[in-house]
Amino acid sequence: MPLAELAQAFVLISQAATRARAFAQKAAQDGHEADARLLEALAASQETQAGRLRLLLRGKIGPAEQNKAEAFGPALERLMADLSALATAAQDDGQAVAARALTNCRQVAEALRALARHPAVTGQAYQVCQVCGFVQPDAPPERCPVCGAVPGKFAPAGPISEKQ
Ligand SMILES: [Zn+2]
Repeated sequence: MPLAELAQAFVLISQAATRARAFAQKAAQDGHEADARLLEALAASQETQAGRLRLLLRGKIGPAEQNKAEAFGPALERLMADLSALATAAQDDGQAVAARALTNCRQVAEALRALARHPAVTGQAYQVCQVCGFVQPDAPPERCPVCGAVPGKFAPAGPISEKQ
């Protein structure tokens, strides 16, 4: 069905934009100014495209309750399984730093699933670890339980935006 295709394209283009943004930063750091500008243009273009698809998808991706159940249920479970396999593969390839990051991603997904088991509370604020993505309600923890980051590395999750 067309909506599933839109949603898939949105994910793909968003991922490509994130990658292009990271490549642009790396190019700039390494002194490849012209390449950095071109990669920034690619990232900006893909962000625009993703934004357009998001507009098409908005309000057309099912009832809110259903979306929450999908995002924190089957979608997270698939992601956790994939991340476990990728972490194991990275470890087997001798990529210890990558394996650790992927394991942290799986741990964060697990924590998010646990968090979503409690009903969401109106006005609830969430703090996000800027190192690993761990999410905690209210105030930051003394140490991130996943990566050990200090409270200063936590930032509030973004505001609810784009009401129309
Ligand atoms: Zn963390």
